Parts: sequence; C-alpha cells; structure tokens
Amino acid sequence: MGGLFGVVSKEDCVMDVYFGTDYHSHLGTSRGGMAVWSGKSFNKSIHNIENTLFRAKFEAELANTKGNMGIGCISDTEPQPLTVRSHLGQYALSTVAKINNLNDIVDKEFSNRKNIHFMETSKGAINPTELVSVIIDHEDSFKDGLLKAQELIEGSCSILLLTPQGIYASRDKMGRTPLIVGRKAGAYCVSSESCTFPNLGYVFNYELGPGEIILLTPDGMEKIAPPRDKMQICAFLWVYYGYPSSTYEGVSVEVMRNRNGALLAKNDNVEIDLVAGVPDSGVGHAIGYSNQSKVPYGRPFIKYTPTWSRSFMPQNQEIRNLVARMKLMPIPELVSGKRLLFCDDSIVRGTQMRETVDLLYKCNASEVHIRPACPPIVFGCKYLNFSVSRSEMDLAARQAIIKLEGKEPESLDAYCDPSTEQYGCMVDYIGKRLNLSTLKYQNIYDMIDAIGIGKDKLCTYCWTGKEA
Ligand code: SF4
Repeated sequence: MGGLFGVVSKEDCVMDVYFGTDYHSHLGTSRGGMAVWSGKSFNKSIHNIENTLFRAKFEAELANTKGNMGIGCISDTEPQPLTVRSHLGQYALSTVAKINNLNDIVDKEFSNRKNIHFMETSKGAINPTELVSVIIDHEDSFKDGLLKAQELIEGSCSILLLTPQGIYASRDKMGRTPLIVGRKAGAYCVSSESCTFPNLGYVFNYELGPGEIILLTPDGMEKIAPPRDKMQICAFLWVYYGYPSSTYEGVSVEVMRNRNGALLAKNDNVEIDLVAGVPDSGVGHAIGYSNQSKVPYGRPFIKYTPTWSRSFMPQNQEIRNLVARMKLMPIPELVSGKRLLFCDDSIVRGTQMRETVDLLYKCNASEVHIRPACPPIVFGCKYLNFSVSRSEMDLAARQAIIKLEGKEPESLDAYCDPSTEQYGCMVDYIGKRLNLSTLKYQNIYDMIDAIGIGKDKLCTYCWTGKEA
C-alpha cells in the first residue's frame, strides 16, 4: 500500500512534512522518503524503515533541511520520492500505485524509442514511480502528463508532484485511494489520511474526486482537471487499513466501524460474557457490537506496544505470524472460564486467527466466537498493493472452497451469496478449521450500509468478484 503527504506554505514547513508523513506509517513498512524544495534544489532523503520508525530515521536530517514546500511518502514497495530534471523543469514525485500493465506500457509506449531507458531495480523490475515520471515527461505540461498517466495505467495510481511552483495532486482515476486537502493560515497540505490534520493545525478544506487534479500553492488551490463521474473507492479503507481518526468521503472510519459492529450485533443472538476487538482495527467494530448488544466490552488481550508498535505487518508471512503472536499478551483473569466474542477486521488466510484462538483456549477460554467485520474474502485485490504477497489460493475462503469442491469451481458466485448452501458450508469449514465456537461474517449489505455512501461508489471486488 503506501501513503502520501505534502505541504505548501509561506513559511518553513519541514516539520509538518515530517510529522504528516510519519502519520502514514500504518500504510507501509518498507521505505520512507521526503523531498523539500529549498528554493534552488530538492533536499531529498529516502530510508529503509523495515526495522525502525520513520521518525527515528529522518530526525537527524531535520536541522539541515529547510524549505516551504515538500512532499513525503511511506511506501511498501519502491523507494520514493524520485527527483527529476526534464523539459518540464525540476520536480519530485511520489505515487501510491499498483500498475498492473507496467510492462505493456513500457513495450507499447516506449520500447521503440531510442532515447529512453529505465533503471532496473535489484530484482530486474522497473520502478513504477519512474515509469510515471517518464509518462509525464513525454507530454507538454504537468497537467497533460498526469492525465496521460491516468489514461495508461491499469490498477490504481494517486500522485503528488512537487515543483518549484507548488504541488500537483492527482487522485486515482477511479478514486480507489483518497487525497484530501487541509488548510491553515498561510499553508495547505494534501494527505492520503485526514488524521494528519488536527495535530498539525490543519482543518479539512477539500477532498479530490476520482481522477481530479489540483495545484496547491501557498496562495491557494487551483483546479487543473475536473473529477470524473465514476468512483470506486476501496471499502476496505473503512473496514481495515484506514486510520480510525481519518474521514474519507465525509465518513469517519471509527464511526463506520461502530455502526458496522452495531449491525453485526443486531443480526446475532449468541450468549456471551464479553465482547472484544482484535487490535487494532477490530476494536471500533467491537465497541459498536458491545453498545448494541449491551454485553460489556473488555480487553482479554493487550498489544505490547513499547517495542511492537507498528500496526501494519511485514510482507513475509512467517515473520508476520511471529510478530502477531509475540505482540498479543493475554490477560488470563479476563479469559479463563469466559464466553468471548471477538470482532476482527477480516479473515485473510486465517493463520493468525488460529494462533490467537489457540492462545485463548490455552488460557482456559470456555468459548471463542469470531465476528469478522466484512464478508469472506474470496478474491485477491487487483487494485492496491497492500496485499502484494497475498496469493488468492492462500485465502481462507478459497482454501475452504477447494476442500469442499475437490477443485476450483467454474463460478464462485454461490460462495459470495450468504443465502446459499455453499456459502454456509464454506463458513462452517472455516470455523471448524479455526477451532471456533461460532463464526459469523458481516454481510455485504450491512457493511455497505455502515459506510453509507452508496454501493455504486464503492469497490467491493474482493468480496464479490464483480468489477464496476
Ligand atoms: S479489491 Fe478489495 S481491497 Fe482491493 S480496492 Fe477493491 S475493496 Fe479495496
């Protein structure tokens, strides 16, 4: 996945860029970067943040970095921002992108041109952000370049482009990832997450529509290209990976989770002693469940945050399992002899859930009921990079379907419909595999209602397999 943050200001803005970018650390664990325009050139720095925090890596450089415009990014893939000098001038570029047709674009648009080359990364691939810069450089203006990138790229791509004149912000053409503008006296910021605003003194100013392009300068915001009609913002932003204190399309993540949990409880009749959330993103759903059901909310286990502070998991599955196991500390007094119900954001492979449930039974839980906050994930995400290592066949739902059918069925539609026998068998299978007392997923209709912006504006592909 990844996150973007940029500031244009009448005064030095380095600290805002630093803290604003850091507030996107839940969106990626691989690389962090900042580029600040000094008036003559870019102060750029990129660090590996796999084993350390963004703030710790960049703190020592702050004293020597000055400027009133800058962008930063947290990336789960390529090192960014790139700084470029082309016929359009100097600029710095960051993207949150998944370019599914990267090699096609290179072959069709650039391979027969003599004066083009791409730097190969250590794995022989092309840096997607570099491809975006080459697309932009082949047009006559930043506006045309950003529009061309939207036209060519399949997948998704939101962009911040810092020039000596200001920051161009271009939201993905289907709006799968958000870009939100904040404002304070003498400054504007643009951010993937609006949770950055209050502590840096910004207030909400504007949310870009799908495909919309703006130019931010210290004096104001100019609309460069209008929004498109069709939006497919990722529903998983609210359910799982968006930060609870962010708001997208006017809908607060935490408020959505509370509503979603309440709807889960309305359709439930299980007898339990305690409701809990699997930290962190299950908590908001669980509070909603508890308030609706009138069953007390508690914390039968706590996350050990002093050293296991990152909420997003490493890409490597084995390390991810180990981290997940070591992070959660049970409180035996709240587990022993209790009938516990946990809300979790989702079940992906189910391996972490299985370990958590085993731990609860070791602490003598009498029953463990799981309520995922979204339907079974049947399809891998085609549009965003946060599930880059997720193979569709590893998904708990797909494994269950193959076990039940003996092979991959021609159509998965019946497994996406909660009214079918096939769906019931799949959920039963997953519940038994995870050793649960009961398992009941949120249904897609209530999840969409809890978001509340209309089904036609949301991407729900990973649950339905249907593209808009
Ligand atoms: S497929 Fe799922 S995770 Fe991917 S953009 Fe759509 S809703 Fe989000």
